[in-house]
Amino acid sequence: MEVCGGQTHSIVKYGIDTLLPKGLELIHGPGCPVCVTPVELVDRAIATARIDDVILCSFGDMMRVPGSGRDLIGARAAGADVRMVYSPLDAVRIASENPAREVVFFAVGFETTAPVTAAAVLRAEAMGLGNFSVLAAHVLVPPAMEAILKSPGSRIQGFLAAGHVCSVMGFTEYEPIAEEYRVPIVVTGFEPLDILEGIHMCVMQLEEGRTQVANQYHRAVTRKGNPEAIALIRNVFRTVDRAWRGIGLIPMSGLALREEYSAFDAALRFDVSIGSADESPECIAGKVLTGEAKPDSCPVFGTECTPERPLGAPMVSSEGACAAYHRYRMRS
Ligand code: SF4
Repeated sequence: MEVCGGQTHSIVKYGIDTLLPKGLELIHGPGCPVCVTPVELVDRAIATARIDDVILCSFGDMMRVPGSGRDLIGARAAGADVRMVYSPLDAVRIASENPAREVVFFAVGFETTAPVTAAAVLRAEAMGLGNFSVLAAHVLVPPAMEAILKSPGSRIQGFLAAGHVCSVMGFTEYEPIAEEYRVPIVVTGFEPLDILEGIHMCVMQLEEGRTQVANQYHRAVTRKGNPEAIALIRNVFRTVDRAWRGIGLIPMSGLALREEYSAFDAALRFDVSIGSADESPECIAGKVLTGEAKPDSCPVFGTECTPERPLGAPMVSSEGACAAYHRYRMRS
């Protein structure tokens, strides 16, 4: 299983999965943070954006992810002040420029983006900004890998771990997983040659009966990662249980603001009511995200569900597996 959506796009774009010998199958994993953000949190972001005087900022990928009703673009069309930013620090700047407004950053992403969200909270605190807050939706990769390995239908015999996540976190967290579940885990980059080498390293371990963590992406990743970035995460966030869209609750798989930063927690600051948060009944994103199904086996792939009219998040995000299949492998 390749864990990262960027790897999935590379694999599908270059047809790497179609070139592999019989008996070797790549399974796409839950490595798209936008895709796994639960409907309830998307609905909460939309409800927060609709409050008078709120400016809601988020990354572009999040804008068209459907909640149980409309998406953030739809909320903007209906009058909410929703802005796309490239960094949470842009949201801090917007807050400093608009002291009479409340600025909320909808913080989505894996360990890769969490340090910058943490830096934004610290920047806002240092600037004395009382009108900046974060709706935290960051999630962590290792607990999701364990949840997939524990699921009864798991066929995973090895992982290509996400190089960019490991460039922040290192890979010590993966060593107990490789040992306990007896799976090789190869930290892998995103270029086609990276992925081919990652697959080769994984297969060699299996052939030799080894199940260890190995590092293919050594030009960017060290075993201990980036200590400053890890310290930022640990300073500002605590680990909490988090629901993953289409998968369900995964223990200790999310990041929430520590109590000392609760003044910056949008979930506490804004008392919004949201209704029941249901997925589209046709969408099998949960099976796609856990590798039980490939996107083109979804009955509505490319018909009722397209990038222009997505029914599920994996068709929206630039890292979503359904979007990759639609872009590079649309059936004629
Ligand atoms: S093709 Fe669309 S409906 Fe089907 S799993 Fe993917 S996002 Fe969901």
